Amino acid sequence: MNAIIFGAPGAGKGTYSTRMQNQLGVDVIAMGDIFRESVKQNSELGNKVKSYVEKGALVPDEVVVEVLKERLSRIPAGKGFLLDGFPRTIAQAETLQKIAKIDVILMLDVPDQIIVERLTSRRLCKNCGTVYNIRFLKPKVEGKCDKCGGELYLRADDNETVIRNRLQVYKTQTEPVVEYYKKTGIPFIVNVTKSIDQPPEPMVEHMMAELKKLNLA
Ligand code: ADP
Ligand code: ZN
Repeated sequence: MNAIIFGAPGAGKGTYSTRMQNQLGVDVIAMGDIFRESVKQNSELGNKVKSYVEKGALVPDEVVVEVLKERLSRIPAGKGFLLDGFPRTIAQAETLQKIAKIDVILMLDVPDQIIVERLTSRRLCKNCGTVYNIRFLKPKVEGKCDKCGGELYLRADDNETVIRNRLQVYKTQTEPVVEYYKKTGIPFIVNVTKSIDQPPEPMVEHMMAELKKLNLA
């Protein structure tokens, strides 16, 4: 099964995709994680993307597409994938259409106020990237990752100015991509978040049940 998970910054793409990864037996390709890792490593890719990621602007399509192709080529034959953070522009979607078949779109619908509140209290594990929230999705031990004990940190782009920019970019560049997919007839599974303290598990169950109905899980 090949899927895309869409949603504004902070909608929970990473949270849900890591939770569904094992249940679905797919590889998750998380573009933002790849970029943050490359910036941390000071790699050639890291140097190319750093200034964009810091500002909350989109990395140029050619760069992103090259990364995607390389990651897709590493997926074992017969194994599916879940794309988190790709495609974010129509050009990226058109490229994807030429290289892979998408079976389903997971759409996370979260109101703006909830997003801003969530992002400023979001924390990530330095070591494994697991997402926490110091108000709504707390680790068992303060400041430490439940899975690996790694230190939790606030993403540099999770500050109000950059968050506002990322939301704007989502509305202008990525919402048209969602419209593009609606026209393709690929099935959508929509998940609506109504409250800020909504835990992820029931959402994951809902999406898994819908995937089963479509014979994709
Ligand atoms: P968000 O929480 O905003 O959804 P991500 O972790 O997915 O953030 O991405 C972080 C940053 O990486 C983005 O703000 C952007 O600079 C860059 N990025 C990620 N995916 C893409 C993409 N498909 N195209 C262009 N830039 C991207
Ligand atoms: Zn960890």
